[in-house]
Amino acid sequence: MMITTKGKKMYIGGKWVDKDETIDVRDPQDNSLITTVPSASKEDMLNTIKMGEEGVAIAAKMPVHERISVLNKSANYVEKYADLFANTIASEGSKTIKEARGEVTRCIETLRISAEEARRINGETIPFDQMPGSENRVGYYYQFPIGLIAAITPFNDPLNLVAHKIGPAIASGNAIIVKPATMTPLSALLLAEAFDYAGLPNKVLSVITGKGSEIGDVLVTHPAVRLVSFTGGLDTGEAIAKKAGLKKISMELGSNSPVIVLRDAQIEEAVNSTVSGAFWAVGQNCLGVQRIFIHDDVYEPFTNKFVQRTEQYKTGNKKDERTDMGPLISEREAIRVEEWVNEALEEGAELLTGGYRDGAFYAPTVLTNVSPNAKIAKEEIFGPVVILFKVTTLDEAIEYANHVNYGLQAGIFTQNIQQAFSTIGQLEVGGILVNDSSDYRIDGMPFGGVKGSGIGREGVKFSIQNMVEPKMVQFKL
Ligand code: NAP
Repeated sequence: MMITTKGKKMYIGGKWVDKDETIDVRDPQDNSLITTVPSASKEDMLNTIKMGEEGVAIAAKMPVHERISVLNKSANYVEKYADLFANTIASEGSKTIKEARGEVTRCIETLRISAEEARRINGETIPFDQMPGSENRVGYYYQFPIGLIAAITPFNDPLNLVAHKIGPAIASGNAIIVKPATMTPLSALLLAEAFDYAGLPNKVLSVITGKGSEIGDVLVTHPAVRLVSFTGGLDTGEAIAKKAGLKKISMELGSNSPVIVLRDAQIEEAVNSTVSGAFWAVGQNCLGVQRIFIHDDVYEPFTNKFVQRTEQYKTGNKKDERTDMGPLISEREAIRVEEWVNEALEEGAELLTGGYRDGAFYAPTVLTNVSPNAKIAKEEIFGPVVILFKVTTLDEAIEYANHVNYGLQAGIFTQNIQQAFSTIGQLEVGGILVNDSSDYRIDGMPFGGVKGSGIGREGVKFSIQNMVEPKMVQFKL
């Protein structure tokens, strides 16, 4: 049985559980009701943690070959039902069906990489004779799983960002509790179904549905939880970091990514990649291009082409194969984006295209004449809005690019290798793309930010590093 029935239940320690108290899951396109999910209480969360505590020993005892097998089987399940997964993403979230398919492909990749990395969690021997008096010792360390992981995930990649937490957790022998975003819990539940099918032992994984503001504190403050792996907004992340206490935290937060276009850039390529980077997933993308710094000499041709290309973007029905961009996650979010744009316009910004709203839809919008100190330039817009800035030097572009409390990824378009390397050294970000926009990631690379963009790195191997601890063993001979 598939999500049509399971959507009404949550997955607690290997059992599908329902409740009288429910939360509606709606399609943001027309606000229609898709299904309901249980609204877990604090007590439900405490029970889930208790099961997770029992799951810790079960997960740690799973031999590596079993972890590999479960991960590969779950990947096969996602592959087999790829259409169902893609339709679920494109129903509960704001991605188009084309974008949703891309996310499903990446989820399969994340699970398969997790299976591969499971066999590479190694230790090493330590040469004790480096210290006079220690010649009679031999020693090594191995990596042991840290125990119970709390994973909290956002709405914008409702499947693959969940896979990025479950995959590495299973690979490294940990138990995990996932609290998906309330607006998009179905993809996470469907992924739990894949692990259920794959034979993951009970109690190792739970996907609990409920409001973060109600049940979040119980999870993140509980002493049995050894790592809080959070992906979401800066404010939520900061609040969790303050409360979490003595445990590991991994924070994948937002950004307002900059891209620099120098005078020797290949303009056509720069335009195509920055337009896609700005409007992918309606700009609700932590890597989304928000600020573009363009050299004076190419500002006009770049801007003309950028606006032309933006105006070709097709907004509409998410399920239509020809649609490039769907609605925002809610009308409330679209109204917030509209307010931010209007505030910028009142402060003197110039609207080059877009700037209008229809329910939860907001048109792809291009602004210029925005002060680098304006809210829309300093904060994360998380919507389909991009700002073009004219600059006269690379130093000026770098200064503005760094002039924010975020630093996830950035891009630079240039044919000049020296300028590229100088920029790589100076930009305060977790990743830089030369001759591409900020919006590119594969699932096996280290991914994460600096400043308000977070702490730690994901990307399967790098997530695993945060989910294990070395245990040092010495033999005195
Ligand atoms: P959000 O509002 O911060 O919510 C994220 C998650 O936190 C949701 O599951 C939410 O639950 C939960 N939450 C809320 N309050 C909580 C609390 N007090 N305790 C524990 N959990 C709590 O973020 P969002 O709007 O879903 O996602 C957008 C943000 O995520 C953007 O800033 C984006 O840049 C960032 N993001 C970052 C990355 C990255 O890898 N760096 C990737 C994707 C997205 P409810 O839904 O129940 O409120």
